[in-house]
Amino acid sequence: MANLVNNVASTVREFGSNAAIWYDGTEISYEELWAQTGAFAAGLRERGIDAGDRVAIYLPNVPQFVLAFHGTLRAGGVVVPMNPQYRSREISHLLGDSEATVVVTLADLVPVVEQVREETAVEHVVSVGGDAEGATPFEEFLAPGDPDVVEREPDDVAVQPYTSGTTGQPKGVQLTHENLSSNAKSAAELIPEGCRPDDKQIGVLPLFHIYGMTVVMNVALFNGAAYYPRPEWDVEDAVSLVEAEEITIFHGVPAMYNDIINQPDAESFDFSSVRMCGVGGSGIPAEVLRTFEELYEPKVYEGYGLTETSPVTHFNSPLSGRRVGSIGKTVPGVDSRVVDGSFEAVPPVEEGPVDEDEVDLDEITGEIVVAGPNVMTGYDGLPGANAEAFTEADGKRWFHTGDVGYHDEDGFFYVVDREKHMIVTGGYNVYPREVEELLFEHPGVADAAVAGIPDDRRGETVKAFIVPTPDAEVTEDEIQEYCLERLAAYKHPREVEFVDELPRTTTGKVQKFKLAGEGDD
Ligand code: AMP
Repeated sequence: MANLVNNVASTVREFGSNAAIWYDGTEISYEELWAQTGAFAAGLRERGIDAGDRVAIYLPNVPQFVLAFHGTLRAGGVVVPMNPQYRSREISHLLGDSEATVVVTLADLVPVVEQVREETAVEHVVSVGGDAEGATPFEEFLAPGDPDVVEREPDDVAVQPYTSGTTGQPKGVQLTHENLSSNAKSAAELIPEGCRPDDKQIGVLPLFHIYGMTVVMNVALFNGAAYYPRPEWDVEDAVSLVEAEEITIFHGVPAMYNDIINQPDAESFDFSSVRMCGVGGSGIPAEVLRTFEELYEPKVYEGYGLTETSPVTHFNSPLSGRRVGSIGKTVPGVDSRVVDGSFEAVPPVEEGPVDEDEVDLDEITGEIVVAGPNVMTGYDGLPGANAEAFTEADGKRWFHTGDVGYHDEDGFFYVVDREKHMIVTGGYNVYPREVEELLFEHPGVADAAVAGIPDDRRGETVKAFIVPTPDAEVTEDEIQEYCLERLAAYKHPREVEFVDELPRTTTGKVQKFKLAGEGDD
């Protein structure tokens, strides 16, 4: 049965001498990975970590993340991944809520943990990359010999990432071995020939986030491929690794693709070794995708998902056809629907994507809901949030994604925007995504985001935040005229602000609450 530890064990049996991890020229083979995850598991067991205990991993993408992740699972523990950009206030909530007893972190981040340690259940801090007061160095934490392995059932929780979801404080998402295994399996099967043992996957997506964790790390490790973690996103670093190591699979968020095409020497980059480019985490503007494909050989395949769904629920697989502007078809084994406020199915349009100016979006859209083996058991200890997140219907437990979308008769789904990002201006609904897509087509715009800001007369009004291209001398009037010529008047940004960069999460999402100056993501 599906269990993350068994998945790695079977790779080790079949591809033991293959490189599992490549990091700055050093390779860790599958056999070594097995030995070191065993030693980490033994280290945990020796210190009394038991089945179901939580181990927080507060690291960038370094090999020790992978070792601690799979080592914790072998010890029967639950991994709590934490964004290494978080500071004490943020980790204090996560550590407190998860009751993690072990934290694995960089030596440099140990003081951040120490600041809040007393308020938490943390008993052991393990440091990577040096000594730090109050911590045991990673190498010393390992224990030799066979670990006293704890078998876990498919329905046991394996990983508890935190997400704000649609509202409120970060919530602990309980993902089981079955959730994560089934999704890594589906994600691998959507690539032509599957993920192959000679594939090389670059790890520019952060491992604490579900996209990098499942689709990049676990897909590689469950298929004998090599995983190339990178601790931070740096275009030059990523491109030179792709070229030098002949990377074959590249997954990124739209902001990464946008960074690549906006480099002054973008034309000289060589992506010819890459046989598969994936994108997700937010919608890729059509213009960014088109420019990338004009410059380089690989096509970019967009997918969609959420932390709560392990993550992939939709994908434009090269195997089943893609449609630019769509998030793709529902992946095998998963069900999805578009429903209205009474949970009635909204019928598909004939063929998408629709021209958003010619149809009444409110008539064809609804909330996307999903059901399947990849859907979380629930938010940890939050019955109220769980009651809101799920609807039982037709023998299935449907998860509410909080995304507004529509689908077409060919089975392609389209995300219009997040429900809560919709701007209501003078009684009209505006989905920022539509305005953003148009802004990206303007030659003077390198990056753009649209948000609603308070307005006395209209309730809210549309505001565009724009990062201009370096040599452009674009003005507010020009942007407004450009939008007015191409959009219904109520959708055009009545305010335009030029900024140096947009506030983004490490997974590429624009933090609209920061732009609008309020609330939560
Ligand atoms: P997270 O839990 O951080 O993975 O965020 C999930 C959210 O990311 C979804 O609910 C969507 O709003 C957004 N998202 C992910 N992929 C896409 C996509 N391809 N197009 C549009 N939005 C996306």
